[in-house]
Amino acid sequence: MPDTLKFDAIVVGGGPSGLASAIIMARAGLKVVLFERGRFAGSKNLFGGVLYTSAIQEILPGFMAKNPPFERPVTEQGYWLLSPDSVVRMMHRSEQYKVEPAAAYTGLRARFDEWFARQAVAEGALVIAKTAVIDVLRDNRDRVIGVRTDRPDGDVYAPVTILSEGVNNLLTQKLGLAQGDLPPRLVALSVKEVIGLPQATIEQRFGLTGLKEGVAIDLFGDATLGLPGTAFLYSNKTSISIGVGMLLEMFVEHRLRPHEVLARFKAHPAIRPLLAGGESLEYGAHLIPEFGYDRMPKLYADGVMVAGDAAGMVDAMHREGTNLAMMAGKFAAEAAIEAHSSKDFSARHLQAYRDKLEASFVMKDLKQYRRMTDFLDGTPHFMKTYVDFVNDAAMRYFNAHDMPKRDMEKDIVRSLGKRRSFLGVAQDVMRLMRGMGL
Ligand SMILES: Cc1cc2nc3c(=O)[nH]c(=O)nc-3n(C[C@H](O)[C@H](O)[C@H](O)COP(=O)(O)OP(=O)(O)OC[C@H]3O[C@@H](n4cnc5c(N)ncnc54)[C@H](O)[C@@H]3O)c2cc1C
Repeated sequence: MPDTLKFDAIVVGGGPSGLASAIIMARAGLKVVLFERGRFAGSKNLFGGVLYTSAIQEILPGFMAKNPPFERPVTEQGYWLLSPDSVVRMMHRSEQYKVEPAAAYTGLRARFDEWFARQAVAEGALVIAKTAVIDVLRDNRDRVIGVRTDRPDGDVYAPVTILSEGVNNLLTQKLGLAQGDLPPRLVALSVKEVIGLPQATIEQRFGLTGLKEGVAIDLFGDATLGLPGTAFLYSNKTSISIGVGMLLEMFVEHRLRPHEVLARFKAHPAIRPLLAGGESLEYGAHLIPEFGYDRMPKLYADGVMVAGDAAGMVDAMHREGTNLAMMAGKFAAEAAIEAHSSKDFSARHLQAYRDKLEASFVMKDLKQYRRMTDFLDGTPHFMKTYVDFVNDAAMRYFNAHDMPKRDMEKDIVRSLGKRRSFLGVAQDVMRLMRGMGL
């Protein structure tokens, strides 16, 4: 076999997880090849838009000196609760968010992943784009020994492979590490649009004083027709990222078309003025794994590990995914480096990867929120009931009604009773606490 086809490690997928692995392994002196099926890393990728610097710092210490293509630091963030004609805003703004590097920045994946791939190349990894991995090669003892790409003579060999192929984890399934076809209750579908606006218009509409300020808003309630799901609105330099996401089963059950849900959200009276005059720059849809800790694929086998979205490592509760993916990529890389030192690539040895994950926030958080998807699935009325109630309560509370305040307060409590029985509310609170792992 020519040496050009033999590597120390193969990585499948040029997203945050795969690129983090490639960077760590190449820096340790391993001969690494990463395959990305897109035109370039990031060209096929889409996310809401918040990147977390604690994870980037773990992979690339001193990353700010390498000019990461961030949009704006997140200096204000929080939730908007939308009823059909009102909004209750719960936002947090702090001077502490302005210390550089900020804890979070908005970003666009086509730019960020491409930059991250350049860092992998600078560390010595070979990043090959426009190349899909179509199969995993195994020896007669079922150990993974390489991959088959869609290039002519495209078999490539290494004693260890890291699958960072994203939510559509076909190779992980082929290996029997994950179940086939994701059930629609365990995967969310998000539609996103990037809307171009002049910098000054964005700053005026969101109350920002310049490029050193930015806003990240997650929205609930009428944004998703009161169904379990979330929407988002993030400020970039000269554009706004906007999107909605719901469990796939909600789209099916309620016969909703994703683009219509986004169009409806954009037309909400609290949202429309923020987008007025904007130009649509990008539009796309992407799945988000919601398997949770209990239904994760098996994370390793002889000669192979699975990281990031391919393994369902998303904390939807806190809109975190890229950071979990990067940390998982780092832990898988460290396990691969250790395997090379001991020349042992067996599953028994690669279990170090899972041990590292379990000891970190990645598995601790996924474990804590393991029942969140079940909560959303089991209480589909939750968003509508309580978000409408909070808006209704605010309307009564903030207005004079020529009635004693005691009666107004009773009125508010009664309006909740009309929506949900006392027992129902108690059950919902218990379920929510269970979903949050409390
Ligand atoms: C709408 C939306 C909003 C989100 N918002 C946020 C957010 O604000 N903050 C956050 O941190 N996370 C967010 N996430 C989650 C985050 O995007 C993911 O968790 C993260 O991208 C996972 O990284 P990954 O490297 O595991 O997978 P991906 O980013 O999906 O990368 C996988 C890569 O593998 C490539 N690939 C797949 N199969 C093959 C193959 N066979 N051969 C070669 N290449 C292959 C793909 O082209 C892709 O580049 C959001 C996700 C969505 C969909």
